[in-house]
Amino acid sequence: MKKIALLGSTGSIGVQVLDAVRRHPNSFKIVAMSAYGESKVFTRQIKEFSPELYAVASTNKEAALEVAAYEDADIVFNAVSGFAGLEYSVTAIKAGKTLALANKETLVCGGEFITRLAKTHGVEIIPVDSEHSAIWQCLGFEKQASFKKLILTASGGPFRGYTWEQLEKVTPKQALNHPTWQMGKKITIDSATLLNKGYEVIEAHELYNAPYSKIETVIQPTSVVHSLVEFADGSVMAQMGTPDMQIPVQLALTYPKHMSTAAQPLSFKKALSVEFIPMTRKQYPLFDLALTCGKEGGTLPCALNAADEVAVKAFLDGKIKFTDIYSTVEHVLSTTERDELVSYKQLEDADSNARWKAQKFIYKLSK
Ligand code: MG
Repeated sequence: MKKIALLGSTGSIGVQVLDAVRRHPNSFKIVAMSAYGESKVFTRQIKEFSPELYAVASTNKEAALEVAAYEDADIVFNAVSGFAGLEYSVTAIKAGKTLALANKETLVCGGEFITRLAKTHGVEIIPVDSEHSAIWQCLGFEKQASFKKLILTASGGPFRGYTWEQLEKVTPKQALNHPTWQMGKKITIDSATLLNKGYEVIEAHELYNAPYSKIETVIQPTSVVHSLVEFADGSVMAQMGTPDMQIPVQLALTYPKHMSTAAQPLSFKKALSVEFIPMTRKQYPLFDLALTCGKEGGTLPCALNAADEVAVKAFLDGKIKFTDIYSTVEHVLSTTERDELVSYKQLEDADSNARWKAQKFIYKLSK
């Protein structure tokens, strides 16, 4: 019986963690749980799973941090969205907890600081993102296994081939309509701008200790190949399946075993063609910017993320154009200096400075 502390239980990933527990009640138990705000859904979840500890983060952050360090938990599942999730990861790592990480900002913003901290505390970080779960499977669940190249797939988003002029007219509704994956709003917009793929390259760099020169990306429009690994002898392994997050979410709990899910398996009864299309950095300016930031490291990826969080929200609120997400992030980065990253406090500062700059820029844009 694996005891789970779940952070972010009402979000898109959190709900799927609870589905996995429901499917396999003899294998898993929720011992602690948090959600951002109070809601009927959270109340219902508490009733159903009766955790020993639960917390609402917006009104009692201390209690939510206790969930992240809950003594009785074997694994902490961080399904919080955005920069807010980073502090929980730091808390869980310091408490020596195995960390199933759906919060990609932890590795994007925290970078080396997080991987160092995890090493110091002997904590294993388990990937939840479908691409990184795929790589992990291709490596035989061995994060230190040797490889020649990691190849991350991207769907290319709903606006592949659009001109800048066409992108300027994109509405939130169009951008929220992802061609292959069902996800939360923020990550769906980041997938449409392809910033998310830049984040995933940074994540892969941190999780698999891979130099950027060994990470490639390729467009696979139907998202049935979730990523690939090339080995020294030229052999390439791919992990495939229907694009359904319940598989990587549950695998983070059951590894190295695979257990049943409700996902539809791929059907080979009909013709299935799998297409790979080369992807260039220039096609996607936010992807390009994220890679540059990732390579420079320090506090820059954190500033990038903060600017993006503010810009995505403004876009969803109808305040700025889709293309202004890029302009905002670009503006913030062009006025931000890189600092070497040694403490968590620096991340908080980099985050709030970049948010402030992004807000000022958006205010000017929308005037
Ligand atoms: Mg992904």
